[in-house]
Parts: sequence; C-alpha cells; structure tokens
Amino acid sequence: MRFLVCVKQVVDTSKMEVDPNTGRLNRNNANSIINPLDLHALEAALALRDQVGGTVTVLTMGPPQAEHVLQYAVSMGADDVYLATDRAFGGADTLATSYTLAAAIRKLGSFDLIFCGQESLDSNTAQIGPEVAAMLSMPDVSGAVDISYEREGYITVRRQLSDEDEVLEMKLPALITTAESLNRPRYPSVLGIMKKDHVEIHKLTSADLDVDPSRIGLTGSPTRVKQVRPVVPPKKENLRIEGKTTDEAVDLLCTAMQKIHVI
Ligand SMILES: Cc1cc2nc3c(=O)[nH]c(=O)nc-3n(C[C@H](O)[C@H](O)[C@H](O)COP(=O)(O)OP(=O)(O)OC[C@H]3O[C@@H](n4cnc5c(N)ncnc54)[C@H](O)[C@@H]3O)c2cc1C
Repeated sequence: MRFLVCVKQVVDTSKMEVDPNTGRLNRNNANSIINPLDLHALEAALALRDQVGGTVTVLTMGPPQAEHVLQYAVSMGADDVYLATDRAFGGADTLATSYTLAAAIRKLGSFDLIFCGQESLDSNTAQIGPEVAAMLSMPDVSGAVDISYEREGYITVRRQLSDEDEVLEMKLPALITTAESLNRPRYPSVLGIMKKDHVEIHKLTSADLDVDPSRIGLTGSPTRVKQVRPVVPPKKENLRIEGKTTDEAVDLLCTAMQKIHVI
C-alpha cells in the first residue's frame, strides 16, 4: 500500500517570536521542530507499512529549512520525502496551504491512505487534514485513536467523541488525522540516522504543480492576520476579609465578591 504523511515544520513554542509589525511568526531554523502531533501520524503510517507492506512518503510545505523535518522523518523510517517550497507559497492561510498540499499529493500519484497530525503547535486550526481530503474528494476521519486494516480496500478507525466512541469503516483511498493517544512514536533508528544525511529531498515548486497562481500563497488566502497581541494575564489582588463573627465575615465576603462581579 502507498501511504503519505503530511508533516509541518513548526516554531518551538517555548521559543516562539511574533513580528509585532507584520503579525507573522518569526520562523528560523534554530527554533523550528517537526510538529509533535505529526509524529503520531508518521508512526501510524510506518506501523501499517510494517504490517501490510508498501511505502511511506512524507510531504511538507515550507521554507527550504523545512528539509530538516523531512530528514527526521527519514531517521524514523520514511521511504521518500518531498518539500513543496516556493516564494509563491509564502503567507498562505489554511485554504491556500491545503490547496497546495492537495496539488502536490496529486502530482505524486495515488495513495491508499493519507495521514495528518490532529493540529499544528503554532496555528492549531486542525483544518488542513479535512480540507485536503475535501480537495482530493476522499473521505476522512479526524482524531483517530485506533486504526486497523482488516478488510481489503477498507480501513477501520475508532475515534473518541465527548461521551462515546465511534467506529467507522472507510473505503480507501482516505485521509485520517491522528490523535495523540493513538500510539507512541518510535525513536529514530541507527540505520535511519545514517540514512537521513544522504537521502534525496525532492523539491516541488509552483512550476512543478498544476496550480492556479491565484489560489496559492498570500494571493490565494482569503484570511489575514490583522493584529497579534500578547495575552495580558489577569491582575491578581489579595483581599483579606475579617469579621467579628462568621456571619459578618460571610457578609463582607459576599459584598466584596459582588463588587468584583464574581456573584
Ligand atoms: C488567518 C491566517 C493567516 C495566516 N497567515 C500566515 C502567514 O502570513 N504566514 C505564515 O507563515 N503562516 C500564516 N498562517 C498560518 C498558516 O496558515 C498555517 O501554518 C497553515 O495553514 C497550516 O494550518 P495549521 O497550522 O492551523 O494546521 P492544522 O490544520 O492545525 O494542521 C493539521 C495537520 O495538517 C498538516 N499540515 C499543516 N500544515 C502543513 C504544511 N505546511 N505542510 C505539510 N503538512 C501540513 C500536519 O499534518 C498537521 O498536523 C496563517 C493562518 C491563519 C489562520
């Protein structure tokens, strides 16, 4: 079977910086990592490949530095890796990102199963997976907590809803976004670590893809970040309530709470 995994290079949130003038994330190699939730998507694909045979292709759209997340995927066991990179892809919102990823996937041929992480660490809209599936006209299930391949041409997926589990069977080809509890991502192997420095990272530019230039990058993005503001932590104040009796203390407490609109 042919598996494809979409992974995103994200800013390590412990070192995240936002350009106050443009509202954009300051992405540079030093503070970028593979989106942690995408490791679960990659593990799911690798485990299925180990079970039924086939290949795992990994795709990312990002700047040239995103190469190192693909190398990490190779060290975990990915067979081949693709980087969709072009200035024209820059500034994409979720719609333009999904459009570009879907075009890249079409270019790479047909896949039986496509995996995405549940959401990214830095924009976390969780929109990309379902949007890519819609653009490729395939079914999708989000937040898989269990995946099994029991019947040829179909995949069984369990997902957790707020108060119940749902088990769905999807006809392949299909897309799955994976929950964190699905599996424990494997560590890179020694062989994988040796392979990652020599692997060929295939680049895809807008010229390689059959894309409408008005639907990619900033031009193709109907949404804009107008402003980014740091969250101001609520001001803390200590209030000491003293009363001669318990009833008096309770009255004083209630009055104080009414003043600060707690009750
Ligand atoms: C209004 C708006 C404006 C934006 N403007 C900009 C901007 O100007 N510049 C900018 O750099 N970013 C911008 N972004 C962020 C950019 O849109 C997102 O990084 C991108 O669309 C992915 O969305 P997400 O991070 O929410 O992914 P999610 O939907 O949360 O990710 C789910 C999964 O999709 C896959 N995935 C997501 N992104 C990629 C990718 N690039 N390659 C491969 N797989 C992927 C991964 O498997 C991931 O786990 C903007 C976002 C919004 C909402």
